[in-house]
Formats: sequence, structure tokens, C-alpha cells
Amino acid sequence: MKRILVTGGAGFLGSHLCERLLKDGHDVICLDNLFTGRKDNIRHLLDNPYFEFQRHDVTMPIYLEVDEIYNLACPASPVHYQYNPIKTAKTSVLGAMNMLGLAKRTRSRILQASTSEVYGNPTVHPQPESYWGSVNPIGLRSCYDEGKRLAETLFFDYHRQVGVDIRVIRIFNTYGPRMLPNDGRVVSNFIVQALKGEPLTVYGDGTQTRSFCYVDDLIDGMVRMMAQEDTLGPVNIGNPGEFTMLELAEKVIALTGTASKIVHAPLPSDDPAQRKPVIELAKEKLGWQPRVNLEEGLQKTIAYFKQTLKL
Ligand code: NAD
Ligand code: UDP
Repeated sequence: MKRILVTGGAGFLGSHLCERLLKDGHDVICLDNLFTGRKDNIRHLLDNPYFEFQRHDVTMPIYLEVDEIYNLACPASPVHYQYNPIKTAKTSVLGAMNMLGLAKRTRSRILQASTSEVYGNPTVHPQPESYWGSVNPIGLRSCYDEGKRLAETLFFDYHRQVGVDIRVIRIFNTYGPRMLPNDGRVVSNFIVQALKGEPLTVYGDGTQTRSFCYVDDLIDGMVRMMAQEDTLGPVNIGNPGEFTMLELAEKVIALTGTASKIVHAPLPSDDPAQRKPVIELAKEKLGWQPRVNLEEGLQKTIAYFKQTLKL
């Protein structure tokens, strides 16, 4: 049994990760300031004697004894990370420094939840880990993109300079149960709109692409990355299936059977035109590849929103 710290543990991905680590027989400390996380996400874990919740902000240092750290604390939806961009940058950068300091003191292995956003609006397609990205340093998405890029830099410098045992994964758009209905990300937006019979808001002409990974696949990749000894990363974790936002909207309409129509709304600034991971490294080093296709994952997510929103 390991003592494992999960920052951002009350969020969408963090709560699934806490659940998985408890199932694997570990002692889990979930740390979260509840900015976009919810106690409801972890309510079912609170009775477990091996689970502990601490309300704490990662921009402040913390003194704990742990064996492993998963650093997920950071709002992930563009709407949420642009709400207070200065805070977002602090969360990524000061949060990484504080957690790396903790890893250094406790000699624990630490995994960073980085993002496909480090590739920016990519000029190389699909994106391998060797691509350095094309990121606007001063735009509306920069607080998140550059914050995550500097966090990766800090991880590798803490490794090179003081020998911290790091792992870095780059997560591509992940979806599933426990996304916030008003989170602003495309999968939750489309499903909630379809279930309410409202128009589906496709931004721009809808030809921009994304690759969507179901949450269970993602968590499995994350845990495998932490467990292996060979690769520090960065390793892409995502589903290489690539869809336009129009295709996604049509799939959601078909699967929900809604009478909703598609409407177009303005494209947010610096919205990447295309995104698709190369996952050869994950296949080779982690023996990992996604198992849940988009249709299956959407069905599970639709069932979740139907139940929680009573629609
Ligand atoms: P989320 O917003 O549901 O979870 C983030 C969690 O971090 C929330 O519980 C939030 O309250 C917490 N948090 C935010 N700022 C904090 C702070 N200063 N101190 C302590 N806790 C704080 O988002 P998610 O989708 O679960 O994403 C989790 C991580 O994975 C994030 O680091 C995100 O950048 C990364 N990621 C997610 C995706 C995705 O598609 N879901 C893609 C790429 C990267
Ligand atoms: N998007 C959309 N309608 C919405 C929400 C998002 O068309 O209601 C588009 C958005 O412009 C982007 C894609 O869907 O091209 C994915 O957006 P999301 O916010 O989920 O994540 P991103 O990959 O941009 O961080």
C-alpha cells in the first residue's frame, strides 16, 4: 500500500483517479481548493478509511508524507481557466514548484498532468511528443498553455538538477461522467444542450478537429505511466480518432435522438484548428492504447447526464 497524493482530486479526472487508486489498494490523500472540483465527485469515497480530503490551494506549500504524487490541480475548461488567468498561471507554475518541492523532500515519484495544449495551434499533424508546438505567448489561452509548458520545464529541471523522479503525460481532450454540465467544454455542452432540446452551439464553421478519449482509458494510461521505470515522458495519452466539431454534434444528435438543431457561434480566439495524438510511445512504453470508441463513450456520458440532470 502506497500513500498517494492526488492534487485536483475532487475534479473530473482527479475523482476517477482517486477511485482507481483506492481500488488498487492504496492510501489516498485528495487535495483540492474546490474551484472547479466538487465534494459531490468524492462523496462516495469519504467513508473509506483509506481516503482523506484536504481543502488546500496548491499555490501554497504543504507539508505531508507521501510516496507518490499525481499533480492534476488546474482548471481545464477554457471558460474556467480564462475566468482568472493570473490565478491559472499561478496554479500551474507555483503549484508545480510546491509539489516538486514536496516530491524532492519525500523522495516520491511525481506525475504531471500536462496537456495537448502545449502543442498550441499545431503546424505538425498528428502531434508526436517530439513536436515543440506553436503557442501564442500573449493570447487568451496562454495562461493555461504557457503555464503548463513552464510546469513541464520545471519538472525536467527538478529532475536534472536535483534528481526528482518525474513522469509527464500530455493529455488530449478527455470526456466522461462527472464533467460539470456548465463546464463549457464541447462534449458536455453538446450533450446537455441535446438533452434539454436546446440548439447545439458549434463554434466557427465546425471544421476544427479534436480527438476524444474516454475517461477510463485515460486513467489507465496515467496509472501505467506512473508504474513503469523506463520513461520520464512526455508521453501523449489520447485517442487518435479525429472528429470535426460538426461530426461530434451530429453524433450527439443521433445518439440522444433529440430534435435539437445546430447553430453556429463565434470561434474563440486561438482555438486550435486540428488536434490528434501520435500514441506510438504510449503503446511501446506503457503497453497502452484506448479501448473505448467515441460512440460507446458518448453513450455512457449521455446516460450519466440523463441521470444527474433528471432529463
Ligand atoms: P477539472 O477542472 O475538473 O479538475 C481540476 C481540479 O483542480 C478541480 O477539482 C479544481 O478545483 C482543482 N484546482 C484548481 N485550481 C486549484 C488550486 N489552485 N489548488 C488546488 N486545487 C485546484 O479538470 P480535469 O478535466 O479533471 O483536469 C485535471 C487535470 O488534467 C488538469 O491539470 C488539466 O489541465 C489536465 N488535463 C485535462 C484534460 C481533459 O480533457 N480533461 C486535457 C488535458 C489536460
Ligand atoms: N466548441 C464548440 N461548441 C461548444 C464548446 C466548444 O464548437 O459549445 C469547440 C471549441 O471551439 C473547440 C472544440 O469545441 O474547437 C473543443 O473545445 P473544448 O473547450 O472542449 O476544448 P479545447 O480543446 O478547445 O481546449
